Amino acid sequence: MSAITVNCPYCQQSVTVNQGEDYAPQFHNCQGCGKRFIAERGVSSIKIMKEKDAPCMSNPECREIETCATCEE
Ligand SMILES: [Zn+2]
Repeated sequence: MSAITVNCPYCQQSVTVNQGEDYAPQFHNCQGCGKRFIAERGVSSIKIMKEKDAPCMSNPECREIETCATCEE
């Protein structure tokens, strides 16, 4: 786990998030406005998205559904 400071996409407050070792996107809650956003770690930087702006690929909930569908096969 590594802590990275990002800016909330809703209120721009600095939020420190912990990203796992993998590159899977994760949900984080802003301490300032309480809204949920998605942080997706890239090769050299971290991408911050509002939940509604995130493509399915970057949405942890959407990915889970897809992953389950594929691993059932
Ligand atoms: Zn916020």
